[in-house]
Amino acid sequence: MKRRVFLAAGTSLAACAALRGWTAVPPGVGDVAARSLDDADVNLPGKSVEDFAARLRGELLLAGDPAYDARRRVWNGLFDRRPALIACCTGTADVRHAVDFAREHKLLTAVRAGGHSISGKSTCEGGIVIDLQSMRGVRVEPESSRAYVEAGSLLGELDHESAAFGLATTSGIVAHTGAAGLTLGGGFGRLGRRFGLSCDNALAFDVVTADGHFVRAAEDQNADLLWGLRGGGGNFGVVTAIEYRLHRMDPMILGGYLMWPIDKARDVLRFHRDSLAGWPPELWVEAALVWSEGVPMVAYEVCWSGEPSAGERHLASLRAVAKPAFDDVAALRYTTMQASLDESLANGKYYYVKNGFLDSLSDDSIDRVLDVFQRAPEEFLLFFDPTDGAYHDVASDATAFPNRGALYWMGLVAKWPTPEGADEKIARIRAAWKELAPLASGFYTNLADADEPLAAYRENYGGNLERLMELKAKYDPMNLFRLNANVLPKS
Ligand SMILES: Cc1cc2nc3c(=O)[nH]c(=O)nc-3n(C[C@H](O)[C@H](O)[C@H](O)COP(=O)(O)OP(=O)(O)OC[C@H]3O[C@@H](n4cnc5c(N)ncnc54)[C@H](O)[C@@H]3O)c2cc1C
Repeated sequence: MKRRVFLAAGTSLAACAALRGWTAVPPGVGDVAARSLDDADVNLPGKSVEDFAARLRGELLLAGDPAYDARRRVWNGLFDRRPALIACCTGTADVRHAVDFAREHKLLTAVRAGGHSISGKSTCEGGIVIDLQSMRGVRVEPESSRAYVEAGSLLGELDHESAAFGLATTSGIVAHTGAAGLTLGGGFGRLGRRFGLSCDNALAFDVVTADGHFVRAAEDQNADLLWGLRGGGGNFGVVTAIEYRLHRMDPMILGGYLMWPIDKARDVLRFHRDSLAGWPPELWVEAALVWSEGVPMVAYEVCWSGEPSAGERHLASLRAVAKPAFDDVAALRYTTMQASLDESLANGKYYYVKNGFLDSLSDDSIDRVLDVFQRAPEEFLLFFDPTDGAYHDVASDATAFPNRGALYWMGLVAKWPTPEGADEKIARIRAAWKELAPLASGFYTNLADADEPLAAYRENYGGNLERLMELKAKYDPMNLFRLNANVLPKS
């Protein structure tokens, strides 16, 4: 069989040189203090660190390197961690070297794509970060409606490249989120009622497993692994690329926000609940309770991805709930809508989130939610994302993603700009959630906070846990990849 190397158009001569092994090695690194998988001190001999650096095409960053501080930062400012090593991988070859090094030295290992883990799981204190940020690239094949996406790519890049061909697939609602982390844990988004979860549209994954081997997981090869990667998170290896199914879609949609004063919230939430089952899959409406310039409001975020005149009819019914105080719903590019929250959920601020799935939303539940929200401080936001439609077309054991069948995904989000007062804010959101938690059953692992004990993750996998543990034993028996929605290998 012929072996080929595909070079992206912008590949530099320096990169080609590096491909041939000319990477600079940091001279005289000295021994490096690190943390092990079992949270013990490890001393990494300088020579082995130098050898590792020499095997990588990308940089190996250590504390003190000028690029180290910027590279170690993740989306949630709460997680200001200092890994011993950051392996800035440029491709599968680097990932394999990094996995081998991490395994051989039994290092605490984090894998980072978009860096948007709410609970800081893509960084670590004293371990190694296998950093995929340089592995960015999306290639769309319009004839087959497929997108081939490198694992460090962001959702905005997937949406942008797909839209250029009149194609799209479900991705999340903030463009700077990483495609890999989102897809591995599920993937809800504005097109989800129509096309299902992002992981339902992931047809194949390229993976480096814990033993450093490269495997492809697809329907016709390693199908067990494909099942596990669709919702089982980063448990089984480092995903280096994902192939997605795309769907025909007009790049112009009807989208934007409707807002009403909070005294309309009961009507607005009840209308949402009562109408949901009758809405076509092209209509996605998130209901939210928000603070706008110090005033509590209720909002609908609308995305209609179908035929425009039908969309106008649905929009008229939403506007008729009560006269909105704010209304900017109009025809716009889907990619513009996808970036509309990017600034308000920017990198580096401080965030705390609680979430759960709702099987129903009774009048009493609505009243309880309103009561909790109106006693909450201004940093809080409460959202209800619909999780019906195409999400329900896939059985809960057909992929590892367990939480099918709910009506809503509810999230309570707090955001603040500086580290001060974090403990107090976190205590308040925990207290608010204590009152809401009885409404929920199960939670979305991708939005789980750092409080969530491992036992809760495992319970959340429900009937899929056993199979996930078998897969874990097959692909990562030493639990090298444990900074995720972790399952233990079956013994
Ligand atoms: C602003 C914001 C908006 C969001 N919106 C949505 C939304 O609309 N819909 C939705 O479903 N979710 C949403 N989420 C949650 C999102 O799905 C998770 O935060 C997701 O993990 C982000 O992926 P990432 O690649 O950016 O994260 P990272 O922090 O890089 O990784 C998250 C987890 O996945 C693992 N991982 C990442 N890449 C790989 C890989 N290539 N191989 C193996 N393991 C890997 C990491 O080790 C870590 O455990 C949002 C989160 C944020 C912060």
